[in-house]
Amino acid sequence: MTSGFKYSDSNKRYHTYSYYIRQRFGQRVFRAAMDIGAGCPNRCGECGENGCIFCSDGSTPRGRFTGISPEELDKIYSDACEATGSKAQGAPFIPYLQSGSNTFGDIEAFEPVYRQLLSCDNALGLCIATRADCIDEDFADLFAELGEQTYLTVELGLQTIHDETALACGRGHTLAQFMQGYELLQSRGVNVGIHIINGLPKENADMMRETARLVGSLKPHCVKIHNLFFEEGTRIAEMLRRGEVRPLERDEYVSIICDQIELMPPETVIARLTGDADRRRIIEPEWSLHKLPVLNEIDKELSRRGTFQGSAL
Ligand code: SF4
Repeated sequence: MTSGFKYSDSNKRYHTYSYYIRQRFGQRVFRAAMDIGAGCPNRCGECGENGCIFCSDGSTPRGRFTGISPEELDKIYSDACEATGSKAQGAPFIPYLQSGSNTFGDIEAFEPVYRQLLSCDNALGLCIATRADCIDEDFADLFAELGEQTYLTVELGLQTIHDETALACGRGHTLAQFMQGYELLQSRGVNVGIHIINGLPKENADMMRETARLVGSLKPHCVKIHNLFFEEGTRIAEMLRRGEVRPLERDEYVSIICDQIELMPPETVIARLTGDADRRRIIEPEWSLHKLPVLNEIDKELSRRGTFQGSAL
């Protein structure tokens, strides 16, 4: 049964990424997540040394990206495509620069990487994850140019609009800095994705709703939302052990997520509503390992409310 929501052909009451991709490309397109060795200014000392408290990137902090050979990049791309599994063999891909801040370094180092990935067999677009404080006019201009040629998305980690939470989480940049980077991209018509985390230390449901309200008002191309999870080796795991923070219960999360969906414009693609915790390292919450039941509960709750994405606008 279809939900009747404008951007859905299933029971979904929100604008899913798979729906968007099917409409745009007429087929399934896989994302090939890859690590080209980009660093993070929040781990190498430029704006912080310890990283975000939930950062699970336990590797040695990397500095500004200085480049990679075409052969190395080719290998990273084919390995990433293979890692998506046999169901994706021969299928089209969107290369996804997921690890690190993929604009942290000179544009001359990054531009050949973006262009080479776009020229790969089966590549139908490009997704670039980074921090808003690593976007300048030159990157924004380049993304505007590439965005005219392909399906390009730049994903920015915001997590929360509340600076006091961001400070407590060691995010290393303020909402004002985020807005500056966001506006540089938006003014040039670049597709921007925004990441939100629910359940950060000392945040209540009202604060999470305020984050969604402001993010929705920015009309981003897509949003990704997940709950905070606690993984071995992170500072947030130590806080959990000291009793300074608690994981959200599943019902709480579902209720907050539904409120947030109602605050998003219908055109914004909801690219994710659950996280991908590392099974070998997760401590809590156990429920977040089971994505399907969480997504089903979200569907049921929206149906029970009789609401859709954008209902609360
Ligand atoms: S911005 Fe990303 S890579 Fe950098 S410390 Fe935070 S979570 Fe880790």
